[in-house]
Amino acid sequence: MLVQRIGNTPLVRLCHVLDGVVPASVEVWAKLEWFNPGGSVKDRAAWSIIRDAEQSGHLRPGMRLLDSSSGNTGIAYGMIAASRGHRITLCLPANANRERKKILRAYGVEVIETDPLEGSDGAIRKARALVAEHPDQYLYLDQYSNDANWRAHYETTGPEIWRDTGGRVTHWVSALGTSGTFMGTSRRLKEYDPRITCVSVQPDSPFHGLEGLKHMESAIVPRIYDATLADRDLGAPTEASIALMRRLAREEGLLVGVSAGAALWGAIEVARALDEGVVVTLFPDSGERYLSEEHLWP
Ligand code: PMP
Repeated sequence: MLVQRIGNTPLVRLCHVLDGVVPASVEVWAKLEWFNPGGSVKDRAAWSIIRDAEQSGHLRPGMRLLDSSSGNTGIAYGMIAASRGHRITLCLPANANRERKKILRAYGVEVIETDPLEGSDGAIRKARALVAEHPDQYLYLDQYSNDANWRAHYETTGPEIWRDTGGRVTHWVSALGTSGTFMGTSRRLKEYDPRITCVSVQPDSPFHGLEGLKHMESAIVPRIYDATLADRDLGAPTEASIALMRRLAREEGLLVGVSAGAALWGAIEVARALDEGVVVTLFPDSGERYLSEEHLWP
């Protein structure tokens, strides 16, 4: 089954991008989430959410699944819905890039475009309005409030990191979108060893170019987000994150999306201040999804 291929992504040690900044005694590892069949970390949450919907009994015949997404969750939903025989409608900011819209259509997703100026919050508001108007037609998956989102990471990402570091992980650094990745993985890692430091990374300003990430102070805050779980919270600058994204391609052979640049920025901030440690971060998707964006890849 396709969904059985979700998870168990590679964990690789970074090398050249750390030169001269991070002490050689500090290891930095990254989990490569584009190895999931739908091409991003969101396969984990989408499968957990859809599986939950299937088992809940709320998905009656003829109903459509509904959610909002800035792209990756929608693509993951599209892939899984197609393979499970569900129909799905997705609210998406109209400025989502061409690749994303084409992939969604290829999977047969019904896409409703929302005001680009309102970003992912505009898409959330549209989905809420649709389900309020047609409660019998749609099952609203609501990735921002759905506990199955963070539980996916509690059940898979956390145990994989613990296993693949042989229990040596000392720091976990992850960027915040819905916050599912950070919440679920942090809860699990702290159960394995409460001394593990968990660091969240978000854009350093409301007007940022870090697709997939949320500036919590100025956004609709996801219900699943609990700021108290983070031992530290860092604000990643857009330009520095983009620069690191480009360096990952040239210096490590890792063609990543821009949120991975932000995650690495956070991991380096943490790692540079240590004498020793095993810092783990996660790269949510591949750079191939952003190649048409001239400001990222001139
Ligand atoms: N990076 C990208 C590219 C994403 O699409 C997302 C999901 N919105 C994230 C990071 C953040 O993941 P999460 O929703 O689990 O916080």
